[in-house]
Amino acid sequence: MTGQFALNEDQLAIQDAARRFTADAITPHAAGWDEEGHFPRDVLRAAGEMGFGAIYVREENGGIGLGRVEAALVIEAMAYGCPATSSYISIHNMATWMIDAFGDADVRARYLPQLVGMETLASYCLTEPGSGSDAAALRTSARLDGDHYVVNGTKQFISGGGVNDLYVMMVRTGDASTKEGGGAKGISCLVIEKDMPGVSFGAPEKKLGWHASPTAQVVLEDVRVPVANRLGAEGEGFKIAMAGIDGGRVNIGAASLGGAQRCLDEAVAYTRDRRQFGKAIAEFQNTQFTLADMATDLEAARALLYMAAAKVTEAAPDKTRFAAMAKRLATDNGSAIVDKALQLFGGYGYLRDYPIERFWRDLRVHRILEGTNEVMRMIIGRDLLK
Ligand SMILES: Cc1cc2nc3c(=O)[nH]c(=O)nc-3n(C[C@H](O)[C@H](O)[C@H](O)COP(=O)(O)OP(=O)(O)OC[C@H]3O[C@@H](n4cnc5c(N)ncnc54)[C@H](O)[C@@H]3O)c2cc1C
Repeated sequence: MTGQFALNEDQLAIQDAARRFTADAITPHAAGWDEEGHFPRDVLRAAGEMGFGAIYVREENGGIGLGRVEAALVIEAMAYGCPATSSYISIHNMATWMIDAFGDADVRARYLPQLVGMETLASYCLTEPGSGSDAAALRTSARLDGDHYVVNGTKQFISGGGVNDLYVMMVRTGDASTKEGGGAKGISCLVIEKDMPGVSFGAPEKKLGWHASPTAQVVLEDVRVPVANRLGAEGEGFKIAMAGIDGGRVNIGAASLGGAQRCLDEAVAYTRDRRQFGKAIAEFQNTQFTLADMATDLEAARALLYMAAAKVTEAAPDKTRFAAMAKRLATDNGSAIVDKALQLFGGYGYLRDYPIERFWRDLRVHRILEGTNEVMRMIIGRDLLK
């Protein structure tokens, strides 16, 4: 990139490191992980050694202390090989950052040393069976009993559910029967360990894509969680969840950019080679126009996404709107670009022998999670009209 949006030397260096890591440890194996539903635990550990598990955790707490543009560059580079693995790392970064930013010294000391190197992995638990888009309606209850909370409820669709060691969980500490306690203000955030008595998991969900990223329900039955495991004050949980997810949305958009870039590159190479009617299909104007639109839509989304990432780093007042706009555009454009690539591949695009169909499946979910793209429009619209 050149001009106003040029990446600096440090950003180019981490982008290069992530690209090399991806080419070596992810890209050659990703189709097999998808086929077998393999969770690449060893690769995550190796990514952790590179600092990719705690990109924006402060250096004094073991992270590499970079900003959200750098995180987007890493996530984007990894998604070029495997959007599912890249997104998994994104969620780990989000949950780990929440502990760094909102945990007290004791919580940070207990959990961050293992998290930053991805020796332990963290999930983000907001969604419930009855509350997806309307996240503030969550019902998982945490009742105070001495110096513990007693937690009961079910979290739905949790990435890393059953596999990860820690669950950064939004729970209701307020009185659900009151207006205050029943809404966003009645929510707190707890760090829950996999091995705490009463924690169990549903069977791994069978999904269209993201096969390398396990998803499961997390069930909590009378789980006793020390009050010391709370992030922030009681009632601040929803605010903390939303602070985490601003960065998560930028990251998931970045994962769409990486996947879309891969499919654009594959489509350029394929249409040069594939011949019909006596010429390369790249010579047809339709192919060129399609590639042109794919590249244009990708760069437009990328420019907005890096801008949103910078705003999240700076905690700009409009960061939430920009994160929502970038997530919406990058994931919608990413999905559309992959679909166009599949069309250019013809019937071969539909086969597992080629990578496009995996990216088509993997990127599809980015329009749904971390808030659906309809919810992104609600956030953007509300901010414009406030
Ligand atoms: C593979 C996968 C991994 C996930 N990982 C995690 C995770 O790690 N942690 C976590 O907490 N969650 C996770 N999720 C959950 C995800 O964030 C939710 O699925 C998402 O927020 C949508 O919630 P829902 O599925 O309940 O859909 P619903 O909220 O029921 O929405 C259904 C439809 O209605 C639309 N809709 C809802 N309300 C409105 C409105 N007011 N106006 C217009 N349209 C509306 C939605 O946009 C959508 O199209 C994951 C989901 C998947 C599929």
